[in-house]
Amino acid sequence: MNQRQPLHYDSLVLHGAAAYDEATGALSIPIYPASTYRQKDVSKRQEFDYGRSGNPTRKALEATLAMLEGGNAGFAFASGMASVHAAITALVKTGDHIVATRDCYGGTYRFLTDFLPRFGVACTFADTTNPADTRAALRPETRVLFLESPSNPMLKITDLSAHAQIAHEHGIVTMIDNTFLSPYYLRPISHGIDISIHSATKFLGGHSDLIAGAVITRTEEHANAVRFVQNTCGGVLSPENSWLLLRGIKTLGARMRCQQETAVKVAEWLARQAWVTNTYYPGLTNHPGRDVLLRQATGTGCVVSFTVDTPQRLGRLLSSVRLLSVAVSLGGVESILSYPARMSHAAMPAAVRAELGITDTLLRLSVGLEAVEDIVDDLAQGAAQ
Ligand SMILES: *Cc1c(COP(=O)(O)O)cnc(C)c1O
Repeated sequence: MNQRQPLHYDSLVLHGAAAYDEATGALSIPIYPASTYRQKDVSKRQEFDYGRSGNPTRKALEATLAMLEGGNAGFAFASGMASVHAAITALVKTGDHIVATRDCYGGTYRFLTDFLPRFGVACTFADTTNPADTRAALRPETRVLFLESPSNPMLKITDLSAHAQIAHEHGIVTMIDNTFLSPYYLRPISHGIDISIHSATKFLGGHSDLIAGAVITRTEEHANAVRFVQNTCGGVLSPENSWLLLRGIKTLGARMRCQQETAVKVAEWLARQAWVTNTYYPGLTNHPGRDVLLRQATGTGCVVSFTVDTPQRLGRLLSSVRLLSVAVSLGGVESILSYPARMSHAAMPAAVRAELGITDTLLRLSVGLEAVEDIVDDLAQGAAQ
């Protein structure tokens, strides 16, 4: 028998759903910029008729996303927030309630607290590191459980199987923002989560050169619901950016492995510095929830958060690092240092930030592909200014 072994995940990332163009054999999927398609017979539905409804380049990307996450369908959006919007609005209606991870991405927080209430959808935030806290937040009208793990920027860990179980008992849909670990290290659907969401701007794209989002579903019912919103609201990813994202994904494994190896070393170094008061990184043995993370994921990721001793030190660091870019965003091949209280989480009220530990001395470092010695030297010289 010529039974072939299933490919290893690393090979799948490269040769999976969209390895080459069927028509020509080209090792790069062509960009189809067409907005419309000639119809041979108007009485029959053809696969591509209008670029919002379907595009061959986007289709190749969406098949790749589904494969990477082990889902039944993937959907590419114009941004991570367009993905969050599409996944949630696909499944809620007026009167419904959402329970969400308390220290979620700032934009998600704004969407849940400032946008959805206009349409009569309420949200309660829970400390999802503790499933009992999640249970306590449930209401009869809870329809969606929205998780983020590791969370942004405190890297708190949520037990996915435990939450899938809670949701199953109550007939609730589970979603996770899987941006931080990427499918390379975490495949939530295999832990019973219904929908995985990404800011593909970050690790999936990997090069700080595009804005994109992804939604991957487990069931046909949810796929149809998301497809309806994608086509109706129209937040689709362009063919050009679909191509760029496909290109970025080819090196996902290599980037994640290399950046994580450096992140572990940087976190260990930070934890030893006298001017660093706390280091948050699931790769450190004392990180809360690390055992849960290691049960459900194959890696600890490339994002390290830390607090420094004084606001003055933080100011000096931000103004004197040279190799590291002080910027919003994460997940690129270049290391990015950001200041959550003023950047990604500025949309969160100060009192909520304080409660979550997002203090004025907290920094978040997305570790890139630079040599570990150069990253550490830059931090050391910045801190010593
Ligand atoms: C950046 C980010 C988002 C938002 O994605 P955009 O592509 O900027 O719209 C959502 N969740 C997380 C965890 C993020 O880091």
